[in-house]
Amino acid sequence: MMDFTFTEEQEMLRDAARSFAETEIAPYAQEWDKNCAYPEEMIKKLGEQGFMGILIPEEYSGAGCGYMEFAIILEELARHDGGLALAVEAHNGLACQHILIGGNEEQKKKYLPALAAGDQIGAWCLTEPNSGSDAIAMETTATRDGDDWILNGSKQFITNGHRAQTYVVMTVTDPEASPRGITAFVVERDTPGLSTGKKEEKMGMRSSDTVVVSLDNVRVPDAQRLNDVNKGFDDVKKVLEHGRVMISALCQGLTRGALEVAAQYAQERVAFGKPIARFQSIQNKLADLAVGYEAGNLLLYRSASMLDQGTCSIKQAAMCKLFISENTTKSCLEAIQVLGGYGYLAEYNVERFLRDAKLCEIGEGTSEVMRILIAKHIDPANPAAS
Ligand SMILES: Cc1cc2nc3c(=O)[nH]c(=O)nc-3n(C[C@H](O)[C@H](O)[C@H](O)COP(=O)(O)OP(=O)(O)OC[C@H]3O[C@@H](n4cnc5c(N)ncnc54)[C@H](O)[C@@H]3O)c2cc1C
Repeated sequence: MMDFTFTEEQEMLRDAARSFAETEIAPYAQEWDKNCAYPEEMIKKLGEQGFMGILIPEEYSGAGCGYMEFAIILEELARHDGGLALAVEAHNGLACQHILIGGNEEQKKKYLPALAAGDQIGAWCLTEPNSGSDAIAMETTATRDGDDWILNGSKQFITNGHRAQTYVVMTVTDPEASPRGITAFVVERDTPGLSTGKKEEKMGMRSSDTVVVSLDNVRVPDAQRLNDVNKGFDDVKKVLEHGRVMISALCQGLTRGALEVAAQYAQERVAFGKPIARFQSIQNKLADLAVGYEAGNLLLYRSASMLDQGTCSIKQAAMCKLFISENTTKSCLEAIQVLGGYGYLAEYNVERFLRDAKLCEIGEGTSEVMRILIAKHIDPANPAAS
């Protein structure tokens, strides 16, 4: 149960993802960061690799993989570009996953094949200008009108929102229901009344797009409602729980990147007549980076395998995200220090890894919220239980 040795198939998948990332992402990642965009054709290329339908069963044209495989792929993509990895994570882990969890057979057949092929990218719309951590305070409404629903409101910080063709949108359908009646809908890009704002200027994750998605009397048929009316928040919680483990895999890619760059640089850089790797202060930093990465892997693989077995708790997912995301930011800072002035330059990528890493302490639940969730789920009779 606790053996995290990769299977032969997982090794092959990792090699394929690594080689794809080294040839198709690494040479361009700095340029995408600078231009705040990856090229449109990347979505199709990712689709051809099976990376746009990772969790989608083969019957809907997906790769039919589990969370362990999802984690392996995300780490490899993020090793070179956190932004592109975030786009892939939000597409697979949030939008597609919500359709998988809450969608009926007809909806899965209608939406998943094009998303899995990379013909389309998906966006997941929960956050609003006045509700982030307090998601249940959302103000976007869906009002019944015959066989249709009319959606009104505004969603903020939506990853892939600029390029998406398929949006999963959370709305309030019954403000009196407890804990507020939230219902999710699939909204197609060309639906009248749906519009997107300008791409936000961001600190990191710059190759991914982040926009406001506005809904102005958007009419959608009841057939585009996911799950039962007022039951959307149950699915949101599941999506976020799984997403938190997957964003941790993205972090591990950044941590590994920071470690690899720092370790190599420390061998090559000479000061006071010897490689800086021979100074104990630098060795301490490299040791901490290696330990943090390894500890992160254990948490990540345990949580991913628990997700695959259906036993991952809210607390486990939160512990995984909290530890790994904070360790990633710390690791990137330390890697910059190992490189000295060069660490501060774009050329060595570690400053970009740091900018990308910081988002992971915020998105899909902040560190403060993770601590609240963990503390809330500590059983005084068995506090060490996961
Ligand atoms: C680049 C980027 C991409 C994103 N992508 C998506 C996406 O695709 N879809 C989507 O729906 N959202 C997305 N988000 C939104 C993200 O999930 C939210 O930013 C996050 O949940 C935090 O919400 P907030 O920004 O409103 O902060 P707030 O909730 O306003 O929090 C502000 C501060 O207060 C703290 N705080 C809040 N409540 C408490 C409390 N009870 N106790 C202690 N401290 C508290 C927070 O931890 C934080 O430090 C994205 C955000 C960014 C920046």
